[in-house]
Amino acid sequence: MIDCRLRIVVTGAVQGVGYRPFVYRAATNLGLKGWVLNSPEGVVIEVEGNDKALAAFERTLRTEKPPQAVVQGVESWRLDAVGFEGFEIRQSEESGTRTALVVPDLATCQECILEISDPSNRRYRYPFTNCTNCGPRYSIMQALPYDRPNTTMKGFRMCPRCQAEYDDPGNRRFHAQPNACPACGPRVELWSPDGDVVARNWDAIVACAEAVRDGRIVAVKGLGGYHLVCDAFNEDAIKELRRRKNRELKPLAVMAPSLEDILNLCEVSQAEKEALTSVEAPIVLLKRRSEGLAPSVAPGNPYLGVMLPYTPLHHLLFKEIGRMAAATSGNLSDEPICIDEREALQRLKGIADLFLVHNRPIQRQVDDSIVRVIENRLMVLRRSRGFAPLPVPLPAACSKIVGLGAHLKSTVAVAIRDKAFLSQHIGDLETVEAIMAFDRVVSGLENLYGVNPEIAACDGHPDYASTRKAFCLGIPVVQVQHHLAHALACAADNDLEPPFLAVTWDGTGLGTDGTIWGGEFLLVRQDGWDRAGWLRPFRLPGGDQAVRQPWRTAASILVECGIEPSSVLGSIDCQGVEKQLKAGVNCPVTTSAGRLFDAISALLGVCAEQRFEGQAAMELEFCASGQTDEFVWPEAPARPPLILDWRPIVKDVIDQAMKGRPRSQVAMFFHKALASGIAQTAQRIGEKRVLLTGGCFQNRILLENAIRNLRNSGLEPYWHQRIPPNDGGLAVGQIVEAIRQRRKPCA
Ligand code: ZN
Ligand code: ZN
Ligand code: FE
Repeated sequence: MIDCRLRIVVTGAVQGVGYRPFVYRAATNLGLKGWVLNSPEGVVIEVEGNDKALAAFERTLRTEKPPQAVVQGVESWRLDAVGFEGFEIRQSEESGTRTALVVPDLATCQECILEISDPSNRRYRYPFTNCTNCGPRYSIMQALPYDRPNTTMKGFRMCPRCQAEYDDPGNRRFHAQPNACPACGPRVELWSPDGDVVARNWDAIVACAEAVRDGRIVAVKGLGGYHLVCDAFNEDAIKELRRRKNRELKPLAVMAPSLEDILNLCEVSQAEKEALTSVEAPIVLLKRRSEGLAPSVAPGNPYLGVMLPYTPLHHLLFKEIGRMAAATSGNLSDEPICIDEREALQRLKGIADLFLVHNRPIQRQVDDSIVRVIENRLMVLRRSRGFAPLPVPLPAACSKIVGLGAHLKSTVAVAIRDKAFLSQHIGDLETVEAIMAFDRVVSGLENLYGVNPEIAACDGHPDYASTRKAFCLGIPVVQVQHHLAHALACAADNDLEPPFLAVTWDGTGLGTDGTIWGGEFLLVRQDGWDRAGWLRPFRLPGGDQAVRQPWRTAASILVECGIEPSSVLGSIDCQGVEKQLKAGVNCPVTTSAGRLFDAISALLGVCAEQRFEGQAAMELEFCASGQTDEFVWPEAPARPPLILDWRPIVKDVIDQAMKGRPRSQVAMFFHKALASGIAQTAQRIGEKRVLLTGGCFQNRILLENAIRNLRNSGLEPYWHQRIPPNDGGLAVGQIVEAIRQRRKPCA
């Protein structure tokens, strides 16, 4: 069996409490080799061994600890083995920096859950119970050091009993900054849409649960923002929620009272179970086992985004509701979530029937994180609550750099020494609210860490709000090509140094030639990079209009194949688009794999018009199933640049559809054909290590088939783990490129 390296970063109070000897024993008992080290951000461990031993080691760290240690986070990466000899406790890194003190929000611990369920406990049913092992952190932190006066808890004076707990080194609440109880802490109230108090405290929770069971929509103020909560089994209520929220199709996340509720509805692997019950408590995308929920929760979607309650308030509320309920972010489509009562009343007017609010202010918006398990490893799709702002390791130390990300799924990052502190998810920079939120996150992150960045790294697209921001900062700017940033983010996530090949497939990114890229094969070297291959370019009739109406792109690729569009697209009138293509007016050229997925989705009648970016491609993935033929790729030229010509697949797709093959099989055929095209092209380019990055690799079928094909071709595939493969990870890639440019001797 081939050995693998496991990197683990354990955060929390893990220093000076015998944590390193504990790690030493755990590792050596399992025969693992490697090292452990105290760093300012926590304990960093790298161990090597076989898969089974590594999994056992990881489980030990997640479930056991020395008595005095407080573990607040365990992040892990699977990396290539480097051949450690023996196990050593390494020299500690310098300590005392403020970066160590910013901790993410932690899901409620078991001990606190027991307390709120115990009628004899003074915190019985108290929704703001927390301790040093759990509770709010990043979402209430206003400044450093992390002390109560620097949090939004400063307005609450601890009662003598809470103060005694806080002062007692032997107590679980010793220095628990948000410590509170019913006598002295925050309280909940149920409000009417006009802001009148309907009920208080426990009664408010009971009344709120009752309203949800009655099919009403309630805005619930939680940890990092508002949720809109509504019975997931009530089709009328869910439909109404969608209508009011102006969100027609995007799947809604649900929260379940307990793991058992989830097991009844979804297939849950061991790794998925661990993700659900982790301190990060993210939304986990799970394969549905049965229908049962209201169909409109996630229409036509074989997956369900599920999470467990992660604050005492959610535990109490969902126990009372007694079943799964939709818990979608409290915003209008595409806007950042609300965090303030008055703002919520205003912005959620006409959406929520009732408001369950509380008087602990939220300092910053922190959305729910989203993860998916691929090949037994976690892949973070949205890095926010529970993760933000934990750092990700960088390949090299650097001066202070801020990475501003791109345009969609915006995040920002600041680099300090050899780590990038990645912000929470901000959203798409399409509205004034989102751009304002973006500005707040940039300055907030800089203030929190006390950094004045010396370099700004941003996208190559001049019109992105994030790019404009970079040029407003008054420091040198490094513009990084969109797909190179994807490639370097994936490399950082896998601790890889160039050279490598990166398959960067996504929706849209500005290429260096002024066209829209998105189906690239980038060969990244130590001192630069080349575009070694790409998908055969095609045109997008109408530009952005083609994004909303994939049938336009479908017509365009049919013309490229020499097929009359109307012969396939039947009922759609393609004449205008054909004229547009002939005249070449507003038909930007692209190599975007995302747009190619859109086109096939429209061709097969799966989705001809989309309400949100990625919908057509997602629906094509969801519809794909069954056994299919292998697509045999024709011989391609042996020397780069290599053009992956999709025309033969499109012809085959149409052929199969015309012959009456079920479209699920045709969709599967398309996925597999592209995945084998990736492997074939990679093989021709000849670089052994192949990174799969970009939004398209959130698609499980494409990703898993590409991984398999690459391995079968003798290549080594890598994909994302802790940094999102979509544009949410770009800020890190931009920083890595800025470091690379600084390292060049002539720069
Ligand atoms: Zn606790
Ligand atoms: Zn108290
Ligand atoms: Fe992208």
